[in-house]
Amino acid sequence: MAGYTPMMEQYLSVKATAPDALLFFRLGDFYEMFFEDAITASRELEITLTGRGAGVEERIPMCGVPHHAAEGYIARLIDKGYKVAVCEQMEDPAATKGMVRREIVRIVTPGTVMDAKMVGDGSNNFIVGAALLNGRFGLAACDLTTGELYVTSFVASPEAINNALNVYRPSEAVGDEAAVNAIHTEVRQAARSITATVRDAADITKLSEQFPDEPWNSHEPARQRAVARLLAYLEETQKRSLAHLRAVKAYDSESYMSLDAFTRRNLELTETVRDRSRKGSLLSLLDRTRTAMGARLLKRWIDQPLLNRTEAERRLDAVEALHGDWIKRKEMRDELGEVYDLERLAGRIAYGTANARDLNALKNSLRRIPSVQSLCDSFGSAPLSELSSRMDACEDIADDIERAISDEPPVTLREGGIIRPGYDPKLDELREASQNGKQWIAELERREREATGIKSLKIGFNKVFGYYLEVTRSNLASLPEGRYERKQTLANAERFVTPELKEKEALILEAEDRMFDIEYERFIALRDGIAAQMARLQRLAESVAALDVLQAFAEASAERRYVRPSWTDGDGFDLTIEEGRHPVVESVNENGVFIANDSSLTSDGGSILLITGPNMAGKSTYMRQVAVICLMAQIGCFVPARRATLPFVDRIFTRIGAADDLVGGQSTFMVEMKDIQVMTEQATKKSLIIIDELGRGTSTDEGMAIAQSVIEYVHDHIGCKALVSTHFHELAHLENSLTGLKNGCMAVRESADGVTFLRKLVPGAADSSYGIYCAQLAGLPETIVSRAYSLLNEHGAFGANGSMGVPMVKEAAATAYNTEQAPAAAPAKGIVQLSLFAEAAPVAKPAKPSASDKLLDKLRKLDVMRMTPMQALEWLNDARNQL
Ligand code: ADP
Repeated sequence: MAGYTPMMEQYLSVKATAPDALLFFRLGDFYEMFFEDAITASRELEITLTGRGAGVEERIPMCGVPHHAAEGYIARLIDKGYKVAVCEQMEDPAATKGMVRREIVRIVTPGTVMDAKMVGDGSNNFIVGAALLNGRFGLAACDLTTGELYVTSFVASPEAINNALNVYRPSEAVGDEAAVNAIHTEVRQAARSITATVRDAADITKLSEQFPDEPWNSHEPARQRAVARLLAYLEETQKRSLAHLRAVKAYDSESYMSLDAFTRRNLELTETVRDRSRKGSLLSLLDRTRTAMGARLLKRWIDQPLLNRTEAERRLDAVEALHGDWIKRKEMRDELGEVYDLERLAGRIAYGTANARDLNALKNSLRRIPSVQSLCDSFGSAPLSELSSRMDACEDIADDIERAISDEPPVTLREGGIIRPGYDPKLDELREASQNGKQWIAELERREREATGIKSLKIGFNKVFGYYLEVTRSNLASLPEGRYERKQTLANAERFVTPELKEKEALILEAEDRMFDIEYERFIALRDGIAAQMARLQRLAESVAALDVLQAFAEASAERRYVRPSWTDGDGFDLTIEEGRHPVVESVNENGVFIANDSSLTSDGGSILLITGPNMAGKSTYMRQVAVICLMAQIGCFVPARRATLPFVDRIFTRIGAADDLVGGQSTFMVEMKDIQVMTEQATKKSLIIIDELGRGTSTDEGMAIAQSVIEYVHDHIGCKALVSTHFHELAHLENSLTGLKNGCMAVRESADGVTFLRKLVPGAADSSYGIYCAQLAGLPETIVSRAYSLLNEHGAFGANGSMGVPMVKEAAATAYNTEQAPAAAPAKGIVQLSLFAEAAPVAKPAKPSASDKLLDKLRKLDVMRMTPMQALEWLNDARNQL
């Protein structure tokens, strides 16, 4: 450090203690950054980079931000994944000789921001601690704003790590090098980023100090290390009490259904595939929660479907009760709407950032609990009553706050106005003294006006001069010389004081000073007292959150006509859904109704359904709907169907060609094969498998061969329920050789003026893909379309083999051909489809529709699914009369 100024030396020694953070170094009214930090910050924040002499020859880079605007800048840096160390002046510069002492008071990092605005109410912000030991991965996930700490461990594999990370979506990770590297790899694969810090050692004995109630010896070492590393890092960065981290929620990852990233994404559980937004996901659909903690818990429930049937049943029982009484449910929703975010309030109280208004919010929320409880009890439902009995309304805490805190306290803590009269005798005494003093002053003003005859004479107060008497210039002549002491001259007035006034002023100010101090002390004592009760508040928050999610399920189910699913009896694994719907597609289907479909995967009727049908026919929607229904049931929610009897699945595997398969730089086909590999390795009899477009992405022959062998493997070796779609219509013959497989296809109606997708699943195999027709609908130039048809004609289409099942609802049989690959040689059946489309664009309407055309048109538009049999009969009758 030779040659640097003393200030720079101080800077460098502070910086050495936080090398991986940008150091905000307080200098008077600014936070300054120097050297590399300055270069980085000026670039990221788009602020000017300047230089400063530092005692050495070259000027050093520097930039700065005003201290009052620092939070915004810090937030932006955190958002970009940086850590920021805030270094304050620890002494008053005016009262200090020489250099002011400076210290880092906190290190803000992406996983430890406490500012609710930055985190968002409905979401958690997790930081994870991780450790890899003897092939086991320990994971501790903490949200500092709520005080939640989850701990789990599992056999370390990229997939398991990925699954766990998907539950928490941490913004930061800390742990030993191997664990951090593994996390980095997974996060990068998902095209996300994470701020990671390596901590190779941490004191395990600290665990019992922080969490005395937790039986640490019963936790495996990988878990202990994960928590210890996290704890050490939090202590290091927060530099303050971690009192609200009290409860450890440990679980085995085997207790929840593991959902891989693809399945999560494909089913659009918490965000959409298209733009990764929450809107349009299952989460946003079901989010009828009234509290922020409920909203956060809902996401966890969706992320972790249950593998315990009894627990799922309990949730469903509660939802059913809430669903059954909409009046009480509304009352419940109203009550919950008045409950603030108890977890975050508790977090701020323990963290020492809560103000008096926060305490009042806590009090008001706690006051709601008894009526929430009695509402819960009134449903006569065991799980709801149990939830209610678990709620501790913490009346003592609410009473303490009530007694102490005034109704409308200010946000500041040092300027009084917080504590109610009657709470502290000393405070009341001082208040009275100050009140008396003020009265005396008011009296003085009246007296002096009378004595001098100056009506405009007034007594004022400012922070620099204290109390003064003010006389306007025009009245100065009437003021007897020497009556007051002159203090200050303004443009049109003079200000004076008297010894008496100064005496009273001293009394008042002293009283106020002491009052403020006492108020502050009493407030802090109260807050600390509540902080000591943290565990109770957290438990309460947990129950309220669970209740809120259950009522949200009930509310969404009522609004959207969902029904309670039942489980297949005993060990049975049959799946029967009547009139199932896809919840999300249904909710966004603006241009018309959603067509409900039945599903039946049973041991005697076929466990595998092979679906063929043209693009856009609704295959993928249909398959996803079955998966989403199973998943919704296992989080304890009702399902979009008329009736559903479901197997309790241990896992859902989905392989659905998503638009961004290429994220990891792998080919679509490679990704598909990897997914299938995981599936073949891990699926059991009790799993549900969804594969969309099996075998695409490689040559026709190979694709078809792989598709067939995968289907056979699932059929012969796994024996689970599976929905498979393929554009290889030839595979329909598998129905003959595999007893547990049946064909299905999405019905299509063909007519002279085009193709209508009926979105209805019918038995049998499709025999056309309508690929060129789709291309035409998509607006491809006519030249391309007609050339495609003529090529198809030249090559001759390979048709369905004789074993293909039932034909579709079609007016003319068309030939099957492959949409994406060059058609393979196969017996041609004649190109009927060409004659349909060849001469004119199929969408073109005849110039003048005849009566029967009109009728046909009406028939086509008829919404048969929504008609009663009587209406249908009437329609038929009318139609006949028109002919
Ligand atoms: P495929 O997988 O056969 O190409 P999709 O499942 O992607 O077809 O469905 C195509 C579109 O059709 C969807 O975007 C959806 O809007 C609509 N759709 C699918 N199924 C239905 C249905 N049952 N009712 C109404 N619209 C549907």
